Amino acid sequence: MGTGNVGATFAYALLFSGLAAEIVLINRDRETADGEAMDLSHSIPFAAPARIWAGTYEECAGAALTVLAAGAAQGEAPDRLSLAMQNGSIFGEIVPLVVRHNPGGILLVATNPVDVLTYATWKMSGLPRGRVIGSGTILDSARLCSLLGERLEVDPHDVSAVVVGEHGDSQVPLWSAAHVGGVPIRDVELGGGPLTRDDMVDIERRTRGAGQAIAERKGATYYAVAAGLVRIARAVLRNERSVLSVSTVMADYPGLEGRNVALSLPSVVGRDGVESVLRFTFEPSEREALQHSASVIERAISMIGIG
Ligand code: NAD
Repeated sequence: MGTGNVGATFAYALLFSGLAAEIVLINRDRETADGEAMDLSHSIPFAAPARIWAGTYEECAGAALTVLAAGAAQGEAPDRLSLAMQNGSIFGEIVPLVVRHNPGGILLVATNPVDVLTYATWKMSGLPRGRVIGSGTILDSARLCSLLGERLEVDPHDVSAVVVGEHGDSQVPLWSAAHVGGVPIRDVELGGGPLTRDDMVDIERRTRGAGQAIAERKGATYYAVAAGLVRIARAVLRNERSVLSVSTVMADYPGLEGRNVALSLPSVVGRDGVESVLRFTFEPSEREALQHSASVIERAISMIGIG
């Protein structure tokens, strides 16, 4: 749903993943979706066998997963609140249509502000919490692992580090839980020495600012988020029960009781969507930062009138 930069790149990555037998592209502008479907279908001889076409909401029926990537990006709205209002109103059109035709599927939200829209999608859809997933900080966590891999001169696959909270400025890197090959990150001496406080501050800043830095250079970001969306799709479609940092509507999470908010925490993702959210012993500063992040998202949710 939404076949712009993010939607079309996701469809391309999904085709090459071999995970989907059928992919329907839905866009407000049917002709663009048609063009994307034609172009994408010509890559099938080099990819896994699949069928891809531009379709209608009726054709969502029976889909295991619907990815929502329709709407404007940050740079196209004067501020984050206007973006939330603008994309919230697009979601007010599309979510009821998707759910009417496919009440049994999982919804995966990519549109920004993703935590606010994950909450809005849950409200508008009437689906159980776990069946509405926001890509959340899966992208920020990948950026953090990638930057740590660079700094420590190791394969980022072997870096386990997670960003929680908002996919936005109030995000929280969980340094206390980060490790490399099972060794706590603070004990790792690689790439010219242990990670210093300055290194951490610099990596946090570059993780948080990556989206804007890329948008300033090329106008939009889409490859890494599309890869993250495929990772989530794989967990759902193969019922992997993978632990991924994704956004869901909180239900009495310790420290966030009574909050009307969706945010990211490491969560078990499988066939039924988010099946559980991991509990942590946070350091006091991390807990405080997570609560602040929840307040930022909650404020935006209530300001656009969906709380
Ligand atoms: P884009 O402008 O390239 O594409 C948006 C598409 O949505 C367009 O094709 C447009 O026709 C379509 N659309 C608009 N209203 C629609 C409607 N009512 N029904 C169906 N389709 C509709 O934008 P993009 O670069 O693909 O970004 C899409 C969203 O993804 C933005 O909100 C952006 O901020 C977000 N994004 C999220 C992440 C993340 O980590 N979650 C990362 C990058 C971008």
